[in-house]
Amino acid sequence: MGPYDFKPRSRDGLGIDWPYTYDDLAPYYDKVEALIGVFGSNEGLENTPNSPPGILLSPPRPRAYELLIKNASAKLQVPVIPSHLAILTQALDAKKVSALLHPNDPRAAGTLTDAMRNRLPCIWATPCGRGCAIRANYQSTTVHLPPALASGNLDIVTDAMVREVIVAPNGKATGVHYIDKKTGQEVQARARVVVLAASGCESARILLNSKSGLFPDGLANSSGKVGRYLMDTVGSDLSGQIPALEGCPAYNEDGVSGMHLYTPWWLYQQQLSGKLDFPRGYHIEIGGGREMPGVGTFEDLDDLTGGGYGKKLKEDARRYYGSFVGFSGRGEMIPNEDSYCEVDPDKKDAWGIPVLRFHFKWSRHEEKQAAHMQKTFAEIIDAMGGKVLGKPQLDGKKAIAPGGSIIHEVGTTSMGADPKQSVLNQYCQAWDVKNLFVTDGGPFVSNADKNPTLTIMANAWRSCEYLLGAMKKGEL
Ligand code: SF4
Repeated sequence: MGPYDFKPRSRDGLGIDWPYTYDDLAPYYDKVEALIGVFGSNEGLENTPNSPPGILLSPPRPRAYELLIKNASAKLQVPVIPSHLAILTQALDAKKVSALLHPNDPRAAGTLTDAMRNRLPCIWATPCGRGCAIRANYQSTTVHLPPALASGNLDIVTDAMVREVIVAPNGKATGVHYIDKKTGQEVQARARVVVLAASGCESARILLNSKSGLFPDGLANSSGKVGRYLMDTVGSDLSGQIPALEGCPAYNEDGVSGMHLYTPWWLYQQQLSGKLDFPRGYHIEIGGGREMPGVGTFEDLDDLTGGGYGKKLKEDARRYYGSFVGFSGRGEMIPNEDSYCEVDPDKKDAWGIPVLRFHFKWSRHEEKQAAHMQKTFAEIIDAMGGKVLGKPQLDGKKAIAPGGSIIHEVGTTSMGADPKQSVLNQYCQAWDVKNLFVTDGGPFVSNADKNPTLTIMANAWRSCEYLLGAMKKGEL
């Protein structure tokens, strides 16, 4: 996220400002990027911050369809730049990065160095979404957990379904109550500090289910804000077929299975001068090329050719394979009073724990943004000399993907500067319970178009530094 994304209300009067600024979080973005390994480039674009020199890994070369999209977008003044993905395009300098992250702790630096050396650079060959056997892409199971386990300070309890946070009569959290999913047994885990990181919504569910005499409306909920300000990302897709890419000879399209190029939001100035009919922006994720064919490939083919059989189907497949491109807009949703979750009074899960029920409403802001996405995608496909598959949907209500489908759910345990208006302070510490923290996407009070994982990690790192400092001072 960039400087604007932390102060949205101050900029356009909508939504909620974060209780800190971009500058407060920037050092933690740098640390996370150094730790997990992110490829990309520094382009100096508005509200798309550069990383310090030496942090980003070199990006992979664009593929043919990506270059065509870049050229066509340039005619429309739409920037297309190397994407930022957490995949190693080169080996990390394990010793240097570990020393940078743990300057005063040689033992931690050594443990991290060993773990980092087990990660190899990408071999451009396999679907990243299924997990990466050589640990080139970022996954918590291969990047965070191995060094934490090697430190000797981590126990992992699996199949533990947390029902509630336990609270002592003095109002402090003393641990969690969970159900062992294998045996059905009720178990308590005791703790000096409880950190919930169960994902936005699930952490809210645990808090709302942690009712007691002291906290009859759920834990950390004196503001009534637990479950509120639920956000997802605005999504809308459009595909096209590009005759220039038809009938290409077989060639090697080496690359990661994600995009090598993308478009960050580029219309800040037009928005400022009132030329757009919606606030906030979106980025564009692009896809296409000779990826592994799936059912969707044949649906696209059928749409184009009217269907085929036998020899004709084979000829069509050879001709059109690799000539499809796809655009996915990912935009900012502004939190609203109608989008929230609460505990369902009637329904329970398989372990007898009450589930959440959801209320969700897009506003006109998001719908207009989705319509703008469709118009832009159609213009780019047209500038490529291509055909839009189907029709661009200019009715925003129909263009927008259903809430929850982009699975960027954030909010529901909002952070803020005012205990009456938020659940957590700026360090993700519950206002009502000093030794309780929430460090997933729940603390977000805005959901900028940038995908949330990096911000979740940077914010969690900042909160954990505060937590450790407070423990050392004996405050927790
Ligand atoms: S393409 Fe993806 S899964 Fe394959 S090695 Fe590279 S990062 Fe790992």
